[in-house]
Amino acid sequence: MDTDKEKRAIEYLRTFEPQTEPYYLCYSGGKDSDCVRILAALAGVKHEIWHNHTTADAPETVYYVRSIPGIHISYPERTMWQLIVDEMFPPTRQARYCCAKLKERGGRGRVKITGVRWAESKNRRDNAGLVRINGKPKKSAKTAADAGAKFMISPKENGIIMNNDNAETRKVVEMCYRTTSTTINPIVDWTDADVWEFLHHYGCASNPLYQCGRKRIGCIGCPLQSDAGMKRDFQEYPKYRQMYVHAFDRMIAAREAAGRIKPKEIEWTDGEHVMRWWVGDDARQITVDDINAIDALDHN
Ligand code: SF4
Repeated sequence: MDTDKEKRAIEYLRTFEPQTEPYYLCYSGGKDSDCVRILAALAGVKHEIWHNHTTADAPETVYYVRSIPGIHISYPERTMWQLIVDEMFPPTRQARYCCAKLKERGGRGRVKITGVRWAESKNRRDNAGLVRINGKPKKSAKTAADAGAKFMISPKENGIIMNNDNAETRKVVEMCYRTTSTTINPIVDWTDADVWEFLHHYGCASNPLYQCGRKRIGCIGCPLQSDAGMKRDFQEYPKYRQMYVHAFDRMIAAREAAGRIKPKEIEWTDGEHVMRWWVGDDARQITVDDINAIDALDHN
């Protein structure tokens, strides 16, 4: 394990520790959030560990999360199956409404700790830093400039990113966190090997799904994975497949009740048909853009 990285991560957590209340530590049940959980304990900073139950988590994840001492578990107002009916189409890579409504809830007005890492994806590399302040980018940028902090505007222009742990950056966090979504990402530069070595060193067994060959812990049927990954999920967890199919049946009924036309191009006859499309088995490959275009026609 790169002990310098470990020491630095601990220092980051001490530097940005809020004075008046504990950190809000976002805990998914995956390996990265186990790292930040252990680091927060090593740093001796005050923190609460929060997990957002998504209703589509694998049972192994649910049991593992419940085994974490002191964990707070938050349950969503609407389940995944209800959201699909509300939104009138399945979640997809381009329209991942479920993440915002199920997975990324909570912690408003708190300084959050996450296990976000650059190594996870190009999107993370572009949009994450040691400190990220989401929302009110103009105001945050002005605050950062006034404080003399080094910062960059995020590529999506919905926030600012800072990669220093100095007094200026700390000042910006103190001034902004109440009105924005502020995250400290102490392992942002860690590699997969860093993560596993750290967890082995501290005797963390981690989520048992990793021992079953999983690389990523997400919801069952998560559309952010490949079609093959979705199919594997549904082979391993047939009851969840059934719940999605039933939700798709209700979604079709909701579309019809709302007067959305059922065009020949889609011909979604029932939940099974939507499922085939969703996992990439329908050769026509209707895109979300197609659905949106059709819905727009309905409303004209
Ligand atoms: S992990 Fe996947 S399925 Fe779960 S909430 Fe996020 S995008 Fe949706």
